[in-house]
Amino acid sequence: MVSNRMENLHPYVPGEQPKDRQYIKLNANENPYPPSPRVIDAVCGAVRAHPEKLGLYPDPDSSSLKAAIAGMLNRTGGVLCRADVDEKGNVSPAAQDRIPFEVTPDMIYCGNGSDEVLSFVFYAFFGSDRELVVPEHTYSFYPVYAGFYQIPLDRVPLKSDWTLDVERMIGDATARDSGTIFANPNAPTGIALSRAEIRDMIRRAPKDRVFVVDEAYVDFGGESSIPLLAEFDNLVIVRTFSKSLCGAGQRLGFIVSSPKLVNYVTTVKNSLNHFPIDFVAQTAGIAACEDAAYYVGCAKKVVSVRESFSAFLRERGWEVIGSRTNFVFVRKNGVRGEETYRAIKERGILVRHFSTPGIEDFLRITIGTAAQMEELKSAMENI
Ligand SMILES: *Cc1c(COP(=O)(O)O)cnc(C)c1O
Repeated sequence: MVSNRMENLHPYVPGEQPKDRQYIKLNANENPYPPSPRVIDAVCGAVRAHPEKLGLYPDPDSSSLKAAIAGMLNRTGGVLCRADVDEKGNVSPAAQDRIPFEVTPDMIYCGNGSDEVLSFVFYAFFGSDRELVVPEHTYSFYPVYAGFYQIPLDRVPLKSDWTLDVERMIGDATARDSGTIFANPNAPTGIALSRAEIRDMIRRAPKDRVFVVDEAYVDFGGESSIPLLAEFDNLVIVRTFSKSLCGAGQRLGFIVSSPKLVNYVTTVKNSLNHFPIDFVAQTAGIAACEDAAYYVGCAKKVVSVRESFSAFLRERGWEVIGSRTNFVFVRKNGVRGEETYRAIKERGILVRHFSTPGIEDFLRITIGTAAQMEELKSAMENI
């Protein structure tokens, strides 16, 4: 009844989205703040003013959205939590994040969430002929796509301090003449490599293989690799609206890369579904990019709540891995991850527990609003 390919499918299990009870959701790294009021106005206004657009095919190339994304990256430097906002609401990059060239729309490809974008990146650049280098613990969708496209993986264990084993990853990529993918900051650890460390990796990795850095969380305190596009044409940076741009429900993600690699990904898209982003999502995405100041404010709040919540847990004997993201990865001696997850859930709060060997004692807790974290603190104190 089914094709042989079905044997290679091992679907991703997303964080629970329960419908039975109103939980405080700290399990899927969504942003706790609503989108900018300008997004809401733009979406409602566009649908009212142009209802016929719901009946017409959208712009297949998302041209205006690509221009808006490029503009936002140029204005912010690509790391929201460090960008400056003056009294008039003008945004400028922090000195360390300044991009030494102009990001142009032909360097952007956008799709329905970075998960879809990643799938096209896997299809375009990685094949069944050699192993793709990934960290053992990283975004758990990569192995799912590897199964889907029958790409063998070389899963490199993390070091004992949970950082990437950069030497071994580069050694393997060189020995196998293969591509590399990881998230920076990494998930679920929250640890980031510096831009200098990534530059050093790409310098030593095979030049004619694609090197992918997934920057889903970089707006909360990492260093973006976008400036490195001036030096490397085999670099693909993957970004999403789901975390720092308060837009997980809109399904928008994009890559920033050389126009040549963007064209390959576009060819994959046009061979499968050439109208990927609907009119409403394009409208929402453009409005979000035009109000970067709002999202800078959200990212700064997340970082400040993350730091106070981390301090709270450390004072109570938890090991908290230093996070540059909108989540913390924590464990406590003598405490079982799964039991704590269940006890917290009974108190109306969802966090994420992975039963993956090696990290089964950890909890991954999304940083919510200050009020949500107060509820979690009292739940954790009463367990
Ligand atoms: C959340 C996440 C994504 C997926 O984002 P979507 O745009 O919602 O599909 C991709 N990569 C990493 C590392 C993530 O954490």
